[in-house]
Amino acid sequence: MGKVLVVGAGGVGSVAVHKMAMNPDIFTEISLASRTKSKCDDIAASVKSRTGVDVATYALDAMDVSATVALLKQTGAELLVNLALPYQDLVLMDACLEAGVPYLDTANYEPPEEAKFEYSHQWAYQDKFREAGLAAVLGSGFDPGVTSVMATYIRKHKLDGIRQIDVLDCNGGDNGKAFATNFNPEINIREVTAPARHWEDGKWVESPAMSTKVPFDFPGVGEKNMYLMYHEELESLSTHFPEIERARFWMTFGDAYINHVTVLQNVGMTSIEPVMHDGKEIIPLQFLKTVLPDPGELGELTKGKTCIGDIITGPKDGVEKTYYIYNICDHEECYREVGSQAVAYTTGVPAMIGAAMMLQGHWNEPGVWNTEQLDPDPYMEMLNTQGLPWKIVELDGPVDF
Ligand code: NDP
Repeated sequence: MGKVLVVGAGGVGSVAVHKMAMNPDIFTEISLASRTKSKCDDIAASVKSRTGVDVATYALDAMDVSATVALLKQTGAELLVNLALPYQDLVLMDACLEAGVPYLDTANYEPPEEAKFEYSHQWAYQDKFREAGLAAVLGSGFDPGVTSVMATYIRKHKLDGIRQIDVLDCNGGDNGKAFATNFNPEINIREVTAPARHWEDGKWVESPAMSTKVPFDFPGVGEKNMYLMYHEELESLSTHFPEIERARFWMTFGDAYINHVTVLQNVGMTSIEPVMHDGKEIIPLQFLKTVLPDPGELGELTKGKTCIGDIITGPKDGVEKTYYIYNICDHEECYREVGSQAVAYTTGVPAMIGAAMMLQGHWNEPGVWNTEQLDPDPYMEMLNTQGLPWKIVELDGPVDF
């Protein structure tokens, strides 16, 4: 059905490319490009041995727009899937506009010098993509991504509107390491050390990072402590569904993780301000990333399950209803299927599904879209057949935490 160019050969890129190869009727030719070509080659070798499919590999610095444009032309790609880092979003959108190719990513643009997660930079491309007749889909990972599509699905089929939404992200996995992050450590630590923020009664309410802790009994995992955090989908959900009175995001962390982050923060190792070290300027957080375990290496070691979903309350025919919609994913099963743990799997599979939606023509209206603005039905159907089945449970009432 279509040729795709994936940029970024990390944990998420690896899963997405494996799953694309498992759907050869949709992804007829797969090209994979990243800064370090050997990482693309390793993924291509694994895909070949598991599926028999060939993946073409290329070295690319995505910050070089003309190099990306040339590669899009060389590969004949009909879609660019950006699985590099949030810093590359705008340059890759520019390359897509120049080459006349649609765009998809999993995380919103972030300026490297400032941990500021907001969609304004990418929403500013709305007119350019519309005028070029191209679609750009933002945030097709799990959260954002699946959790946003789940919200639209509930709003479409179960409720007349959303009054409250809580996105609950639980990783009940254990990798045996004293401290390791499940995806890119730099992005992960920037997220968790930023102040918490949620949407309530038409405004943002801010609280110190990791200051609100609630125990919750997650299906398939059991009780874990979850912490109130800011996450980018709160901005897009509250914008696109203006009836929302309260939107919050929660993520689970073990006590050991919190202790490590607190100490690292106290000693300045999570800072993104440059410092001089031995006559050379370094950024402490980037140095920390270098010494921490590579999330890509954790797949084999990680046991346990993730449980991610939404609890949504809203009216239906004048009666208030609350639904919990979620997916449970097993780290070891993911590793057996594609050689990665569940955090990369739960992001890479939705990236592949979003790409399939675009190549199949379900999600190709010109403009810049967040996933909750698009038809949820074919996406939700594909989650069930591509390794991320979901369940809806009706709860007795709204959440009381
Ligand atoms: P990794 O750090 O494992 O991989 C990133 C890849 O991008 C690496 O291969 C890296 O190359 C490559 N890259 C970085 N800069 C450039 C550049 N200038 N040009 C070309 N390639 C580049 O990250 P993950 O796989 O863990 O995450 C990928 C994306 O997914 C991130 O944006 C992350 O925020 C997002 N994400 C989204 C989630 C969701 O649910 N929505 C959840 C988890 C992650 P090299 O190896 O040479 O550095």
